Amino acid sequence: MSIFKNLFGKKNQTPKIECPRCLGKGHVDEADIIRLEKQLYWAPGACAYCKKTGKVVPSQISKVNVDAFYLTENLTNRQRNKIINNDKKTIAKAQKHKQHIDAYVTYIAMLYTEEKATVEEIVEILIKNKPYGIIVYSPENSKASKKEAYTKYVKKVIISKQL
Ligand SMILES: [Zn+2]
Repeated sequence: MSIFKNLFGKKNQTPKIECPRCLGKGHVDEADIIRLEKQLYWAPGACAYCKKTGKVVPSQISKVNVDAFYLTENLTNRQRNKIINNDKKTIAKAQKHKQHIDAYVTYIAMLYTEEKATVEEIVEILIKNKPYGIIVYSPENSKASKKEAYTKYVKKVIISKQL
């Protein structure tokens, strides 16, 4: 036992393992998002699963799925802990958020397939209606970069839904 302790450190220090979401980088990039099939839900950024450290305690993996859609970076520490500890109210709220995104994805698909709207037209409609819950990544937050981000998102929907 003493040898074991010496090898693995103090008893209370659980050895951490490489974060399975960001693969130890501390941030999630497009490749990670594709690997986890979250193209329609996540934007690249800091890894919320390991809190940018690149490492997690193994017990977290059994508690929260690595692709848990709701564990994202725009959470407060309190919300994050609630999700990790399976707080029903917080998770229900997060699931509602997912439903909003899904509803918008369905809406985009409908505009494209039934209304025969072009990508540009769909982007105009989305910007006018300020969709709640769609994750578009626009680092500059200018009008042009917003438009570009929406265009990218609409194209993602078309590709992933194979429209
Ligand atoms: Zn990570």
